[in-house]
Amino acid sequence: MSVIANNLQAVRFRIGEVARQAGRLPAAVSLLAVSKTWPASCVREAAAAGQRAFGENYVQEAVDKIAATADLTLEWHFIGPLQANKTRPVAEHFAWVHSVDRIRIAERLSAQRPAGLPPLQVCVQVNVSGEASKSGCAPDDAAALCRAVAALPNLVLRGLMAIPEPGDDESAQRAPFRRLRSLFDAIRAGGLPLDTLSMGMTHDLDAAIAEGATMVRIGTAIFGERK
Ligand SMILES: *Cc1c(COP(=O)(O)O)cnc(C)c1O
Repeated sequence: MSVIANNLQAVRFRIGEVARQAGRLPAAVSLLAVSKTWPASCVREAAAAGQRAFGENYVQEAVDKIAATADLTLEWHFIGPLQANKTRPVAEHFAWVHSVDRIRIAERLSAQRPAGLPPLQVCVQVNVSGEASKSGCAPDDAAALCRAVAALPNLVLRGLMAIPEPGDDESAQRAPFRRLRSLFDAIRAGGLPLDTLSMGMTHDLDAAIAEGATMVRIGTAIFGERK
């Protein structure tokens, strides 16, 4: 078995264990393989081991990799910071965007989504770590941004995403995930049908699943340390 196939199996096993410990079904947590900086050959190895959903942060790198694996039926998620002048290739080549943090970006993605494609699946990124982190909308602005995304014709609002500042013990890691989960519950209670909590990376996977993550974004534990 290849290293990547082996790592994927270990990550899937871990997700299942932690979900069960939290009283959740393993199938309630999906795995996004974050392939940024890794070549298309690594994506192919992961795909051969059954992985379908891949996350990328850098637009040009991603567009090249998507073209290089076009013979496979993969689902691509854009998870990186998104500048207004880079929205078009994202609208054209991705199935999901997790990093919508302002209305201007959402409006451009909707306007630029090609007519022949299904709507773009969107998560609103929220800054749940305060001053320390620059990406994501303020928690107080998340509900209004969600309503605005939900009203755009070529986007489907799926949920919320966060990248908390790294904390080293599990209780420090759980606090920001719990904040995102409360916001998610409040926005759902307000009538928007969110179903996705995109949270948890290699170092804080357990904490995120314990707090209700429905999609974890894992790079290092699958592909190795990035240079
Ligand atoms: C790089 C990245 C990941 C994956 O991080 P690992 O620590 O390698 O698992 C997840 N989410 C986002 C937004 C990233 O930029």
